Amino acid sequence: MRGAEMRNGLGKLRLPRPFAFSHPRISPSPHLRYIGPMPELPDVTIYVEALERRIVGEPLTGYAILNVFALRSVEPPLDALVGRVVRGVRRLGKRIVIEFGDELRLVVHLMIAGRFRWIPATSRTRVPARIALAELTFPTGRLVLTEAGSKRRASIHVVQGADALAPFERGGLEPLDATPDTFAERLRRENHTLKRSLTDPRLFSGIGNAYSDEILHRARLSPLKLTSRLSDEEVTRLFDATRATLIDWTDRLRAEAGDGFPEKVTAFHDGMAVHGRYRLPCPVCSTAVQRIRYRDNETNYCPRCQTEGRLLADRALSRLLKEDWPRTVEDLE
Ligand SMILES: [Zn+2]
Repeated sequence: MRGAEMRNGLGKLRLPRPFAFSHPRISPSPHLRYIGPMPELPDVTIYVEALERRIVGEPLTGYAILNVFALRSVEPPLDALVGRVVRGVRRLGKRIVIEFGDELRLVVHLMIAGRFRWIPATSRTRVPARIALAELTFPTGRLVLTEAGSKRRASIHVVQGADALAPFERGGLEPLDATPDTFAERLRRENHTLKRSLTDPRLFSGIGNAYSDEILHRARLSPLKLTSRLSDEEVTRLFDATRATLIDWTDRLRAEAGDGFPEKVTAFHDGMAVHGRYRLPCPVCSTAVQRIRYRDNETNYCPRCQTEGRLLADRALSRLLKEDWPRTVEDLE
């Protein structure tokens, strides 16, 4: 299993080197292509919009649970949704919520390797059984939840009631709804490295390893800078960079997807400035992008744009900071 994971670049957060996208496809099969880190706010937003166009106003006519690990809730059963019309689709942190009537909701978390595939009603395409977790059938088509690799992390919950989403709410501020003041308050509420604060779902919603690298590069701030040490001007710069990065990428992915269903969903994208670009030139100053590795993950930064030319030591530093990095995949969710 481990071999398969390595081959597909799945199941681990670490990006394969040399980077998969700069080389020919690992596999000609679309579901085996490189799938990077967990989808974040822009990626999930594009999924939500594509789903809205296809299933809002449509009744769920059937379903299949193809992997018993996928469905994590017992009550209410999925049967309770059959025959009901989808009222809305929305993002909750990095999760996707499909809303039915009577406060019934289906909550999907893609985690690292979970993805959706949309099979139009006119198509006979079959999704390979080994990656299919669940299927929801609508008159317009079938929505298949897949997960590549051997780890079963993606999940579906069916919940009902006004407070039923509370367990899924991590409390993070929505970065695109934030004002400069609420953003600053949230950032300074706890003293952490910027990398940790931006990616902590209790502090900010929908930002993970990839977009935090891009945000910090845009803000010209070190990932290791402590939030207690930020000047007001730096906080403003970070606020602006956060909005600009997330909005730009959402717009860009929206344009790429067009009317189609998003297929290459990953929080790594070719046009990124530093994320996943170790040793490649910074698009602003051409300095080689650097990295700090920690556990199975890494953060990328430009030493000229972000750290006044200093190289941040790798192993020793990550050991020192081990309490102040996103520790596990679950920490990043
Ligand atoms: Zn640079």
